[in-house]
Amino acid sequence: MDRPKKETKVTSECFVNASTSWSINDSKKLYSVNEWGAGYFDISTRGEVQVTVQNNGNNPAQKSAVSLLEIVKGMKARGLEMPAILRIENLLDQRIKELNEAFIRAIKNTGYQGDYRGVFPIKVNQQCHVIEEIADFGRRFNHGLEAGSKAELIIALSQLRDLDSLIICNGYKDEEFIDLGLYARQIGISCFFVLETPAELPIILERSRVLGIKPLIGVRIKSSVIVDGHWNINSGDHSIFGLSTTSLINVIEQLKAAQMINCLQLLHCHLGSQIPNIRNIRSGVLEACRFYSELINEGAPMGYIDLGGGLAVDYEGAKTNSTNSMNYQLDEYCINIVETIAESLNPLNIAHPIIVTESGRATVAYSSLLLFNVLDVRNYDPQPLPASLPNSDHELLHNLFSVLSGVNQNNFQECYNDVLYYRDEIREMFRHGQLKLADRALADNITLAVLERIAKILKTIDRIPPDLEKLPELLCDIYYGNFSLFQSLPDIWAIDQVFPVMPIHRLKEQPTREAIIADITCDCDGKIDRFISPQGIRNTLPLHTLNEGEEYYIGVFLIGAYQETLGDLHNLFGDTNVISVKVNNDNSFDFIHEFQGDSIADVLSYVEYEPKQMLEQFRCRAEQAVRDKKISVSQRQKMLQAFKASLQGYTYFERE
Ligand code: PLP
Repeated sequence: MDRPKKETKVTSECFVNASTSWSINDSKKLYSVNEWGAGYFDISTRGEVQVTVQNNGNNPAQKSAVSLLEIVKGMKARGLEMPAILRIENLLDQRIKELNEAFIRAIKNTGYQGDYRGVFPIKVNQQCHVIEEIADFGRRFNHGLEAGSKAELIIALSQLRDLDSLIICNGYKDEEFIDLGLYARQIGISCFFVLETPAELPIILERSRVLGIKPLIGVRIKSSVIVDGHWNINSGDHSIFGLSTTSLINVIEQLKAAQMINCLQLLHCHLGSQIPNIRNIRSGVLEACRFYSELINEGAPMGYIDLGGGLAVDYEGAKTNSTNSMNYQLDEYCINIVETIAESLNPLNIAHPIIVTESGRATVAYSSLLLFNVLDVRNYDPQPLPASLPNSDHELLHNLFSVLSGVNQNNFQECYNDVLYYRDEIREMFRHGQLKLADRALADNITLAVLERIAKILKTIDRIPPDLEKLPELLCDIYYGNFSLFQSLPDIWAIDQVFPVMPIHRLKEQPTREAIIADITCDCDGKIDRFISPQGIRNTLPLHTLNEGEEYYIGVFLIGAYQETLGDLHNLFGDTNVISVKVNNDNSFDFIHEFQGDSIADVLSYVEYEPKQMLEQFRCRAEQAVRDKKISVSQRQKMLQAFKASLQGYTYFERE
């Protein structure tokens, strides 16, 4: 087909025009860093995301900061490639300290007579070094552990060395689980069995009789409070855990009959995770106190009230009661709990119990982040178009082309309708063999050019027609990130969780592209397309154009809770490299732990392959090819070496 030589560049700009006066403050606003960063994350004067921690020592007001890019450089120098999980040990310690100190403050300020004992639920992040750090640092606050299975109880028994810290055993417990917990009692550990179902009690009573060890027992109630947020369908009467009021009465009767009512010392009430609304928490505590006082009336000594998890993390930084946010601060949470318990129990002359909470998310979320590099970008910019079309082009192409020159503020809706109509007609003709591939490509390109012009007009008007609302997303870039959503950020896929996502460098430059982020699994769900912005959740993220020969690094923040634990092997992308660092008082940092992520041989063995056998099978095939004279012996050698090296290699994209 004859095409005129002269080309008109329609546009290859994206929707944002680069401004020369861009500053790091603009980046701070754009990515809401100060809001979700909670003082732990910020942007340095060099335009890099930095992590800020309290200094060790007596003056917590003194802080140190380290650039994430510097840490990435240190990782590269040590051969630790992207993607990687970065753990900041100081932040884990700081969160434990802040939680405990906030309760201590609330207790002091309200004249509460009981203590606070935090426990960390192991299921939220079971990684050995996380639990070791919590057990080690938490010791100064008698911070204990919560176990929901035998394996987690074994972790708790081996890691906690402080007899004043609690071990709370939730979940369904068999004889073996109960025996372990009873032995823990025998060596002086405050290990509570929390009854999830009435069926557990006869086993506890029997094993306690056989071993001659008295248990510490708690009862988990089903609160009738329905909480806001993602987990509200699991709260209230329909909660799958806890004892109904009838079962609770049954448990009390059994304990009395066995003359073991004095073992019942703890009331447990977990309303749900990530509770964004403080009013729900107050209502839950109020109801828990009613149960607590009734149990005292029944003759149980009690002494502990365990309010479970639920303390939220403000992933959005919006300070609202939306699912990914919270409408309260840590101090407010503690004061609300302490005050509500005191106000409920004072009129009844009931001694103030020890308050236990099982904060998981709020303890670990901040301390881990995922770092990955961008491998490629696909954009939907139209290609340069000719000034006019040759007469020989189909009439429909001419019709489509004429829409392009006429788009303006007054007719963009009409142009939108026309362009889609002509495009679809052309596609129909292509399907029936009446137009060629080049015609179809030209039509797609003109359509993109028109849509891009309309998208620009939309930015200038107040009221966007509903059918055009998604247009900017349809035209945005796709940045391909070197990570697996299913392995490293499963909650984005499973529960539409929103995490803060942003580049960790080049923040003195204005990002000029709008993008979604795709991972490297072959799954269309493997993408991030919901992002935090000052205006609320948006479907694209502003990013920079890639610079030739330079890596572009993106961080996904606040991922310390649940993500590592729930990640899976989709497409056999395994565990990523993990690095934990400690920031020093002089703004330097040390690499404390380094873990190589899974090799390909590792992930294959998880799904029951035998890597050695696979190598042997491949060797036989290569040997056969030598016999068949398809390859030489030295080619065979090369292939086997490549096969072996791949088995030992990282499951993610490796740059040469
Ligand atoms: N305790 C129990 C019994 C839980 O089921 C959970 C999680 O849902 C937690 C504690 C931790 O909750 P969160 O991570 O919201 O603190």
